[in-house]
Amino acid sequence: MFKKFFILLTGITLLCLASQVANCQYGYLDIGKLFFEKSVVTDQITSPQIAESDNHTQNLISKKIPELILVNKLIRLDEKYEPIDLIPVKGVYLREMAGSGLVKMLSDAKNEGINGIVAYSGYRSYATQSVVYNNKIASQRPKYGEAAEEMAAKLVAPPGTSEHQTGLAVDLTLTDFLKNEYVLNYDFADTIQGRWLNNNAWKYGFILRYDKDKEGKTGISYEPWHFRYVGLEHAKAIHARNICLEEYLDDT
Ligand SMILES: [Zn+2]
Repeated sequence: MFKKFFILLTGITLLCLASQVANCQYGYLDIGKLFFEKSVVTDQITSPQIAESDNHTQNLISKKIPELILVNKLIRLDEKYEPIDLIPVKGVYLREMAGSGLVKMLSDAKNEGINGIVAYSGYRSYATQSVVYNNKIASQRPKYGEAAEEMAAKLVAPPGTSEHQTGLAVDLTLTDFLKNEYVLNYDFADTIQGRWLNNNAWKYGFILRYDKDKEGKTGISYEPWHFRYVGLEHAKAIHARNICLEEYLDDT
């Protein structure tokens, strides 16, 4: 009787172990994938963790400066990453600190006679970015076939690599541009509003995240409409030194 019970118990234990191995296998595959992608930011709002532990980026972010979170093609956000303090502001959602910076910036612009700036895109979830990305792949398929995804990745950030998922990035445009086919376009840089933002955004904690001469560092082509909140102190330093966020985090 006892022997039978023992065999049953061993059987159950083995079954449990087998299922755990199966889980681990998936886990292992995922981990392999994550390493392949260099590093991954996990779902931490106040102290995001990056897999690489020996770089300056990691040091800074681990000092709990959430507004300096770095997201790019190599440092991805987890699927589950969602800021907890998103607020509706100017028709988009942003993290509270970025939202209040934006309100103040647009209000001061108006007071200086700079009108017509509107927020076009703020926080985007991983799921939304996936839809945008997959739509782009589908639209590239007829022309590029097998290379459709590669082409899409040049035009739209793959899910997890978009700064918009941080809730700290905002695309700004003009009310006049809303009726254009391309609401976000390079003409923005040469408008009074675009120039004002380029010169003044740092005073409100924002930086022009993808500048013309930084494409090699950011991995993203010039975007005169994309502003990223990094906080007053850091925006001031980044602007004064004319560097991008990657360089700033590497140097600090
Ligand atoms: Zn953007």
